[in-house]
Amino acid sequence: MSVGVVRETADGERRVALVPKVVASLVGKGVDVIVESGAGIDALIPDSQYVDAGATIGDPYSADVVLRVAPPSDDEIAKLRSGQKLIGFLAPRNADNKIGALKAAGVEAYAVEAIPRISRAQVMDALSSQGNVSGYKSVILAAEESTRFFPMLTTAAGTVKPATVLVLGVGVAGLQALATAKRLGARTTGYDVRPEVAEQVRSVGAQWLDLGIEAAGEGGYARELTDEERAQQQQALEDAIKGFDVVITTALVPGRPAPRLVTAGAVEGMKAGSVVIDLAGETGGNCELTEPGQTVVKHDVTIASPLNLPATMPEHSSELYSKNLLALIELMLGENGAITPDFDDEVLAAACVTREEASA
Ligand code: NAD
Repeated sequence: MSVGVVRETADGERRVALVPKVVASLVGKGVDVIVESGAGIDALIPDSQYVDAGATIGDPYSADVVLRVAPPSDDEIAKLRSGQKLIGFLAPRNADNKIGALKAAGVEAYAVEAIPRISRAQVMDALSSQGNVSGYKSVILAAEESTRFFPMLTTAAGTVKPATVLVLGVGVAGLQALATAKRLGARTTGYDVRPEVAEQVRSVGAQWLDLGIEAAGEGGYARELTDEERAQQQQALEDAIKGFDVVITTALVPGRPAPRLVTAGAVEGMKAGSVVIDLAGETGGNCELTEPGQTVVKHDVTIASPLNLPATMPEHSSELYSKNLLALIELMLGENGAITPDFDDEVLAAACVTREEASA
């Protein structure tokens, strides 16, 4: 059984699907690992480290299973063959996804986004591992853009009050953002429409902002708000946001445009020098004034919408992602060292988006 590791080609993508430590684990299990030359270069991992870990440098598309981070381009899909397995972020819920093309090519594709968010699958949950990176980095960016200190400072020249940070949407990224901002000394507050999040917010030393709107949906995710709820939420947030130096937004509803939480009026109400970091830019943004992928200043407030933050920390992002993939591959490996996925297993059945029996 062999796995191939491709060199990523998406703009700005610096991660790699396997790091050498995980290559060594797979080789130890009898798996041949074929790494495309330069696959780790943007994560500062030279080919020689892969060779030392037991991999060969060659054509990753010759392997039984192709591993990648970002969704494949059309050219990359053309290199795959019928019956071959592909594992990676495949954006199955995006309108422009490549699932149809993969199915037409006869590829058995596994989308890491489709792994169920259940306890047993936490070890292979790439949305979570990469969400943690985004949450952490969003706070570092906010601190960089801020005209104010995060921690309280007591100096001979006087005392500076700690920054106040509000996180809107407290899933994995939001919770990490709250924890990171707290470690930097900020006063933190979290808000979400899933009421069970209140306890998690408090567990990282933050206050819970309760606006009285509950919208828990399927599978632990939020549902989309009704027009009436949305108007009520925007108004309540407009009032609340004025009091914060930094607002970090991470609110998502699977397969839907990002919910609009921060209106232009709310930005106008913020103090000059405040910062909004919008992590929902890929699906349109949580802030009305967000320009996805850009940093803009409106009403003297800096609004940054970075895309793909995990790619900006390729060493640890790749390490965590590799461990997710290792756990998924281990689940697929049969006793004889062959890949024999058991589709009675709910994790594999959900993750596999293009086998004959599964609907894409
Ligand atoms: P996500 O990235 O899909 O969304 C981020 C947050 O935005 C969510 O908390 C959501 O409730 C919130 N949100 C959506 N619409 C909103 C609105 N209008 N206003 C305010 N907030 C809004 O979330 P995620 O980090 O992928 O987590 C999704 C779920 O998966 C959560 O229930 C999480 O606890 C669960 N989870 C489970 C496991 C596990 O047990 N294996 C691991 C990770 C996450």
